Amino acid sequence: MAVSKTHPAQALLAASQLGLTLFGENRVQEFAQKSAALAAAERRSLRVHLIGHLQSNKAARAAEIFDGIDSLDSLALAQRLQSAATSLGKSLSVLLEIKLSDEPTKTGLAPGSHALDELLERAPDLTALRFGGLMTIAPLDADPEATRACFRSLRLLRDQLCRAHPRLALAELSMGMSGDFDLAIAEGSTRIRVGTALFGQRSTPAA
Ligand SMILES: *Cc1c(COP(=O)(O)O)cnc(C)c1O
Repeated sequence: MAVSKTHPAQALLAASQLGLTLFGENRVQEFAQKSAALAAAERRSLRVHLIGHLQSNKAARAAEIFDGIDSLDSLALAQRLQSAATSLGKSLSVLLEIKLSDEPTKTGLAPGSHALDELLERAPDLTALRFGGLMTIAPLDADPEATRACFRSLRLLRDQLCRAHPRLALAELSMGMSGDFDLAIAEGSTRIRVGTALFGQRSTPAA
């Protein structure tokens, strides 16, 4: 996945011409503007997923402009996306964001939490959402061993959840960014999310 946050719509098109087809954006408003700058055929040539935290009040707008939400972190949000996608006659691909370290600012579902179990139990009824797997962000500034252990934990959790919920196909592991994608691949990442290493340094800090 090419992470195009802070870069203009033209950057997505240029990357798409080089063969990249899946893009990650972290803000609803920012991508709404880029999307408006693209012709309909240009927009259709790209697959764009939200990878940043989504507030419930922006779920309907997100369902409209994105092809997938890789940062799903609550049942309430899933239900809002389900109803928005249903009204749009659209199917949205989703990943569950998992929080594997206890950094206070971090969002995501904790392994073994009631919130995660409940969401997985209800997932088969959310017919407009295609649950594809798990996503995580490794702790900032961790040493390589700790980073790798975090990625391994996500893979083991995926294997465990696949056994517990055979009706769901949770194959995807979205993990690894510019600084740690090699470790993520070694631990089985199926979708690295690379921004800086593709597009260069971002001029505006993005959360
Ligand atoms: C910005 C961002 C990335 C990409 O980070 P780089 O270090 O620029 O590759 C990946 N995942 C998420 C969730 C991000 O917000």
